[in-house]
Amino acid sequence: MKFETIAIHAGKRPDASTGAISVPIYQTSTFVFEDVGKTRGWDYSRTANPTRKVLEDTIAQLEGGKAGFAFTTGMAAETTVMHLLKTGDHVISGDDVYGGTYRLFQDVMSDFGLEFTFLRMDNRKSIEEAVRPNTRMLWLETPSNPLLNIVDIEMVVDIAKKHKLLTVIDSTFATPYFLRPIEYGVDLVVHSTTKYLNGHCDVVGGAVVTTTGELSQKVQFLLNAMGTCASPFDCWLVLRGIETLPVRMKQHEENAFAVANYLKGHPKVKRVLYPGLESHNGHEIAKRQMKGFGGVVSCELTGGIKGVNTFLRRLKVFSLAESLGGITSLAEHPATMSHASMPKDYRERAGITNGLIRLSVGLENVDDLIEDLEQALNRL
Ligand SMILES: *Cc1c(COP(=O)(O)O)cnc(C)c1O
Repeated sequence: MKFETIAIHAGKRPDASTGAISVPIYQTSTFVFEDVGKTRGWDYSRTANPTRKVLEDTIAQLEGGKAGFAFTTGMAAETTVMHLLKTGDHVISGDDVYGGTYRLFQDVMSDFGLEFTFLRMDNRKSIEEAVRPNTRMLWLETPSNPLLNIVDIEMVVDIAKKHKLLTVIDSTFATPYFLRPIEYGVDLVVHSTTKYLNGHCDVVGGAVVTTTGELSQKVQFLLNAMGTCASPFDCWLVLRGIETLPVRMKQHEENAFAVANYLKGHPKVKRVLYPGLESHNGHEIAKRQMKGFGGVVSCELTGGIKGVNTFLRRLKVFSLAESLGGITSLAEHPATMSHASMPKDYRERAGITNGLIRLSVGLENVDDLIEDLEQALNRL
């Protein structure tokens, strides 16, 4: 089946007892045994739940993986994956990963004896030099948040295979519609389903897709042991969101392209970061490994923090809010919002400057979006 068909039909069958076409929300904690020692296939909702299972199968099929797992949040998915490691293990991570990912690694997992090296994942030599005898995992994010840097996945996987490292990709920005990392040899795919997969700004959730039976068993064990799984209702919402993922992503991209091209020519905009632009330093790699460039555009404004504040206050159609990937357009200031948990000097070294704005371009009419940006920029 093709992607659009999987997004709508994967794992779904009319409800056996009523014929209901929508997946029932199995809002239940427990399942009654048929007999002593004999279940109907389900026993307790933390371990497995039928609504969650349909979502998990759908995401696994969309990514072309072995099995899927649904979590309460993207961070719960990441926390669970990090428990595949043990005290003393070393992780090499991109240096411009999501702010919460950086915080989890640096401020939480470090306390449990995991070691981290953060670096720009654009150079084979510097990645190889960072590999230590205790390195176990390579963590990448592409396109990255908020700089939209592109990682050459094949290059990183090649290094990982040579050193027998587990590769994990946070593919939240791309979604499986634009990028299928498993085809390039990545071991685990992580998503914040809060973003494009759900797409409607009404749920927080996460997912992991595995590639082997062994990894599936380990992730299922951790999900159950740690209790990081998503609720049936949230799973149902994400399932419903995924049904329209292909049409939404196409339109997000079309609108983002128009916004990027508009900003590119504006005198109050210092630089525009969008992988679809030929001027973007990851454009060629993105074109090769992705089917599209996504719906997030970042840009640096002139006028420093004061200019940023004026601009953000003036926006009317774009809302000032964290998050991204929903139908509604959002604008945010990474340095004080999504990436505030990174220390200032670290943030600036990574290129997340005070003038940087991140736009999640929604599905409104693009003329209204550009008009909104125009009236706000004209105040600078
Ligand atoms: C939002 C986000 C996360 C965290 O997901 P939550 O659902 O907010 O916990 C992780 N990675 C990326 C790239 C994100 O955008």
